[in-house]
Amino acid sequence: MTVASPSPALSAAGIIRAARAGGYALAAFNAVNLETAQAIVRAAEAAHAPVILQFSQNAARHGGLTQLAALGLSLKAQASVPVLLHFDHAEDEAVALEALNLGFDGVMLEGDDPATLRRLANAAHDSGSYFEAEYEVVVKGERSGERHDDPAHLAAFIRGSGCDILAVDIGSAHKQESKNAHLDFERLERLAELTTLPLVLHGASSVPLDALARAARLGVAKINLATDLTLAFTAAVRAALDGGAKDARQYLGAGRDAMQARAETYIRALGGADRA
Ligand SMILES: [Zn+2]
Repeated sequence: MTVASPSPALSAAGIIRAARAGGYALAAFNAVNLETAQAIVRAAEAAHAPVILQFSQNAARHGGLTQLAALGLSLKAQASVPVLLHFDHAEDEAVALEALNLGFDGVMLEGDDPATLRRLANAAHDSGSYFEAEYEVVVKGERSGERHDDPAHLAAFIRGSGCDILAVDIGSAHKQESKNAHLDFERLERLAELTTLPLVLHGASSVPLDALARAARLGVAKINLATDLTLAFTAAVRAALDGGAKDARQYLGAGRDAMQARAETYIRALGGADRA
């Protein structure tokens, strides 16, 4: 099968723009350790898809930012498909800058202070990376925000922040274990008409697969998935332990295989297969 694919010479931002232009989305999966990161890269290789490997600031608190960066860069260097290494949900500018210095291809910062966003966008561009800004907050615990439906507000935000891609709220929610979110496609279509920048959907585990596929066709080019893959990983680890596994390679290997299978299902649904 011949499918238009991004050229290997494309920048990280260019790979995401190619997804938006091509009407598909890159799956952006969160990893926390070696096995979860391998599951993500293996799924992308099996589907011949570009993929985004994400570590959040929360994951860095657990595993160490320097160590996770080294892990991601090493997997990326040996992968047979484009792997973008993304730092997800940076909570302050300093840690986002540290991630850029460590070689991340892109960073996302929580918050909307215009001067901070602009400084970080400039720093990302100086290192050949992209910057994801949070135009709207997707519900996460106590954290939620308002939607902005004034087109001038969006234009000013993009101009002021210098962002390359932007997270929007179209009805998903973080850390949901069931797929009962209803995306507001009318709103997505309005946003996609107002900007050609790739849009980002957070909390995609809360959304049914067919709705994610539709969002990908309508301008969402980066779809963040964490919770559902964590559930797949943990269920397989639990089953392996219940089955008597004692060696970490047995139960973590079972988790890795299950997470890879779930990740590949998402990659295919989002239209990313055979784009690498
Ligand atoms: Zn998120």
